[in-house]
Amino acid sequence: MLMRSILLIAVSLCSLDAKMFQSIKKENGTFVQKGESRYYCPNCGMNLIKFYKTNHTYKGQQYCSLHCLYEATKGVMPRGAKVSDAKTLKLIKTEDAYYVIGGEIRGTMTRNSKYAFKDIGDAKAFQKKYGGKIVNFEQAYATAGEDFKKDKKIIRIKKEKKLYKSGKKLYKKRCSDISANKYLSIADLKAILKSRCKNVKNDKKLQAIAGYLWDIERKGTVLKENDKIIVPHDAKCPICGMFVHKYPKWAATIELGEKKIYFDGCKDMFKYYIPKKKEIASSKLFVTDYFSGKKIKANLAYFVMGSNVYGPMGNELIPFKSELDANAFRKDHFGIKVLKFTSRRRQGCNEGFGGSLMKMLLALFAFVVLSVSFMCCWSMRYDYKKRDVNLLKLTSKRGYIVPSFTFKSKAYREFVYAK
Ligand SMILES: [Zn+2]
Ligand SMILES: [Zn+2]
Repeated sequence: MLMRSILLIAVSLCSLDAKMFQSIKKENGTFVQKGESRYYCPNCGMNLIKFYKTNHTYKGQQYCSLHCLYEATKGVMPRGAKVSDAKTLKLIKTEDAYYVIGGEIRGTMTRNSKYAFKDIGDAKAFQKKYGGKIVNFEQAYATAGEDFKKDKKIIRIKKEKKLYKSGKKLYKKRCSDISANKYLSIADLKAILKSRCKNVKNDKKLQAIAGYLWDIERKGTVLKENDKIIVPHDAKCPICGMFVHKYPKWAATIELGEKKIYFDGCKDMFKYYIPKKKEIASSKLFVTDYFSGKKIKANLAYFVMGSNVYGPMGNELIPFKSELDANAFRKDHFGIKVLKFTSRRRQGCNEGFGGSLMKMLLALFAFVVLSVSFMCCWSMRYDYKKRDVNLLKLTSKRGYIVPSFTFKSKAYREFVYAK
């Protein structure tokens, strides 16, 4: 036991050194992300080269660890993810991997390390040297889930003790003003720091500044705003029954004088609003701007539809105050389109036919159907004129008085005819 703890301390001391077990040379790794932020974990901002041996990739994103993959996939086991083989450094399918968990070598973002190997021989050799147990991906992912809360807590305490303080100091001293709200992920934010801060080439410093800006400044500005939607603790969404205060980022509200109704997303608010739209003015609807967390008017907002960002109720209409923000978000998150309040209500009818071939074809098809049916009706129309002439002959023979033929009501004609 004593030996083990000494070894652990020794290992952790070693890892203070720049060269950790996970680290590799950049040219030996495979990196799947694009752009400036390709070497950073989109979930935590950490350097992927430094923690390469625990990297996982999924849907074009590369995470530093199974912990971050778990957080990004919200505990739903991903299919088709890959992991770096700790021996060969190749990205291998997680389904084919043997994970050695709980060995003495430190893990990434966890106290319970998890290293993957394609070859069972490699996994066994690693296990022999460092201990631990060999499992498949499913079990490793489940273990990451069990470890998650505890790991997250330890990470938070560590950050609060050191990282945020040094990050704040560095930021105030060396960087020009940066608004963290503008960036979609901590990785994107970290990627611009080199150009905005002086003398921070070292990854540790970059990570400290990014962590401080992302966790403290960004959330702090959101919290400081008194113009955000304040949700009472007992407010439930009338559509789905969930407590809204748990999802402040998604809060939407309808303010009817004293009475305020809260929703855990725009989608549910519109579900409630649409059948009542004649009674409720659109100016009474408010949503939360996705970037700033501010309360904004729904009838002035831009909504991104069909993106890969989900709210508490799954697919969401994601609101933005600025059209630029909405378009940028749509591009980055594969949104289908950006809608305004009116077009959202009328499902895009007022957007014209510009841009979408599908819509043009649909319009053409409708036009053809309409004109064909019009022609049919025209050719088969009832010849009132002819009948009225006959009617005249008939009625005048019998001595009835018939009014002029210019009347238009069919009912009236039938009435005349019946006489
Ligand atoms: Zn990460
Ligand atoms: Zn709801």
